[in-house]
Amino acid sequence: MREREPWQQDAEPGGIRLRRLNILMILLAAALAFVLLYATYQTVASYSAMLEATETYIACQQDAADMKAASDYLTDQVRYFTVTGDLAYMDHFFAELQTTRRRENALADLESRVSDTEAVSYLTDALGRSNTLVQREVYAMRLTCEGRGYALSSLPDALGETVLSEADSRLSPEAQQSLAISMVFDETYSSQKNQINQDVSECLDLLLRTTREEHAQSSTDLLSRLRQQEFMVAVLLIMFFAMVFLTSRLVIRPMMAAISYIRRQEELPLDGSYELRFLAETYNRIFRQNRENQDKLSYEAEHDALTGLYNRSAFEKLRSMSRRRSSALLLVDVDKFKTVNDTYGHDVGDRVLQKVASILRSSFRAEDRIFRIGGDEFAIIMTHAGQELADLVERKIRDANRRLQNPEDGLPPVSLSVGVAFGDRPDPTEDIYKDADTALYQVKNTTRAGCAFYGTEYRPSQDASEDDAYAAI
Ligand code: GH3
Ligand code: MG
Repeated sequence: MREREPWQQDAEPGGIRLRRLNILMILLAAALAFVLLYATYQTVASYSAMLEATETYIACQQDAADMKAASDYLTDQVRYFTVTGDLAYMDHFFAELQTTRRRENALADLESRVSDTEAVSYLTDALGRSNTLVQREVYAMRLTCEGRGYALSSLPDALGETVLSEADSRLSPEAQQSLAISMVFDETYSSQKNQINQDVSECLDLLLRTTREEHAQSSTDLLSRLRQQEFMVAVLLIMFFAMVFLTSRLVIRPMMAAISYIRRQEELPLDGSYELRFLAETYNRIFRQNRENQDKLSYEAEHDALTGLYNRSAFEKLRSMSRRRSSALLLVDVDKFKTVNDTYGHDVGDRVLQKVASILRSSFRAEDRIFRIGGDEFAIIMTHAGQELADLVERKIRDANRRLQNPEDGLPPVSLSVGVAFGDRPDPTEDIYKDADTALYQVKNTTRAGCAFYGTEYRPSQDASEDDAYAAI
């Protein structure tokens, strides 16, 4: 199995987990949406019940009105007929009674709408009373026909079938007509009519009361459903704003911040949801590892592996520093180093090179850059160093040579030849490197183990007794 990279290791960055929040929000929203839907359905049902109650009331009211209108119509027709004897009124009467049948239709319609209610009983009573009156009315019309001498064969069957009492048959035609009129205008008739109107009005009152009650009930229901809906909508709105707030707090803001951190090439802060924190932590791990790798690579690219000094490539990059007037360039070469290698072996040679590096490092200031630019060649760029420091430089080299020539660590003695060119040297050529090399050449070609300055006559050193005091200045 492949080993996991450090950034692949499990992280527990804390924070709210978006997945859980998401599931919670979905469940909550689904539950609320369902309840809201149910409340809406109930609201519509309550509203429909209210509407239906109104429509039923209007239709029932119409039935009651029809019952009264038909009864009144029969009364009117029979009264006109008995008074005028005009057969057209009789025809209208029977047409209403047998064909139009408004009273029966009204009752049937009422029954179909509000069966088994008191309203139906009242209207049934009204029809019963009306039918009783019809018998009286038919008898009155029969009397009128008799009094006026209308032939029975031309009259409706119901009249032909009506038999007059013996006493009434014996009455004179005028008396028969008068009796007929009084039968449909007298107290008995009027009281029956009042009774019918009473039934109809009782029926109407009852319908109104029932409808009001139904309305009141439906309105209460409707109001409570609407309140429920209002509440649900408020909760949904709160949830919506909570989601917007959480999304902004846990996702959008941290992401915007992360982008600016990435642009600035900085580590990300652990902020927002668990998932974003996880990503941030993973990013930070990769970021750190990458930076470490880069540091390592750039260190390796600029440093010499054997001595830890800057290498030739770093020297090429920093060479421009040595061109400043305030700088000095020192070229250092180990004398007869080949012999060391040949006599003691390459490993000893390496250790000698490391020792030279270490002595040079301790001899110069931290701000001076020391490079290994070849096998046994070193370069030093001194900053803020003019010709006035020539003595000091010479002493440093003398001291380094004394330490190398009198080893106490079992390594073979070696010495250094050094060529120095200051930025403010006399008669400079264009290339300070070339001038330092010229100075080095002077030493190599004469005494070795010494230090020459470009533009100054080379004087091999005499006395090195006080040089320790100048080391590492
Ligand atoms: P000179 O006084 O004229 O400088 O004589 P020299 O023998 O030192 O000659 P030169 O400077 O030309 O020789 C450098 C030698 O350094 C040659 C090479 O074998 C040796 N050398 C180069 N790189 C390394 C290294 O990394 N380790 C070791 N041990 N020796 C090296
Ligand atoms: Mg050499």
